[in-house]
Amino acid sequence: MVNKLVIIGVGLIGGSLARALKRTDFCQSIIGYGRDAASLEKAVALNVIDGFELDLAIALKDADMVLVAVPLGAMDAVFSSIAPHLESNTVVTDAGSAKASVVAVAQPYLGERMSNFVPGHPIAGTENSGVEASFAELYNDRRVILTPDATTALGALQLVKRMWEEAGATVEEMSVEQHDEVLAATSHLPHLLAYNLIDTLINLDSSESIFRFSAGGFRDFTRIASSNPQMWHDIFIANRQGVLTVLDQYMADLAILRKAIDESDSQYLLEVFMRAKSARDRHVIK
Ligand code: NAD
Repeated sequence: MVNKLVIIGVGLIGGSLARALKRTDFCQSIIGYGRDAASLEKAVALNVIDGFELDLAIALKDADMVLVAVPLGAMDAVFSSIAPHLESNTVVTDAGSAKASVVAVAQPYLGERMSNFVPGHPIAGTENSGVEASFAELYNDRRVILTPDATTALGALQLVKRMWEEAGATVEEMSVEQHDEVLAATSHLPHLLAYNLIDTLINLDSSESIFRFSAGGFRDFTRIASSNPQMWHDIFIANRQGVLTVLDQYMADLAILRKAIDESDSQYLLEVFMRAKSARDRHVIK
């Protein structure tokens, strides 16, 4: 079992993990670290973490495990500042939504200690952020993807896997490349489309009445456009190649659909819609 778990970035993701683990006996104490004392004080008051440190050297002393749950744009700063203070046996993991960029950032700072780093990504979240938005059930029956490689220490991998399982999640492993490709398609592209749809509509002359008459379908499709803009900015910068590949395919398919509408090609439209409906009915959990 873990004595001291340090969470760097006690927001939605880090805070929810802390809340979930507090209901288990996975670790003795959970210490938060961040730049914002007021938000860490709130995390203690909400009983999310047991305590916090603003001095990284003290925070990381005798830490068995560290979870880095900061925005992707802050990963470089965090890995550079934690590296000098990590104990040789401290296991490090992260929760970043793109993986190749985090591994590239961590590598030069961690060096040989990369074997104790297990990159991870919980496939769970909401459109809200901050510790106030965190809740213990966030990971229940959700997937967490870990992206170890051949150099990852087995003990480190097992400990991180155990941590997420204790929090209620099912853990799967895949390569960094596969993760970024899959998430570009299932998460990053839909967020881009939701932001883009709203942005297109607000620029129309009739946007006022469009929003007034919007109904359930519109709300379902665009809920994720209420997500944190800075976080999604970081994701598109971090997973540029993965997103561009699937976006190009999407734009090509959309152009064909446009042509079918223009030409009243009923057969093509029905074919696409029926294929999509049957795939969604089969694959997406209601
Ligand atoms: P959040 O904004 O709720 O929390 C981020 C926390 O990091 C905040 O407490 C912030 O103060 C802190 N922070 C920011 N910069 C820091 C720095 N330089 N040093 C220390 N602390 C710093 O964000 P979140 O939704 O919890 O996302 C955290 C990570 O999890 C991101 O990398 C994101 O890609 C990933 N993620 C998010 C979701 C989601 O749906 N929100 C899902 C899966 C993974």
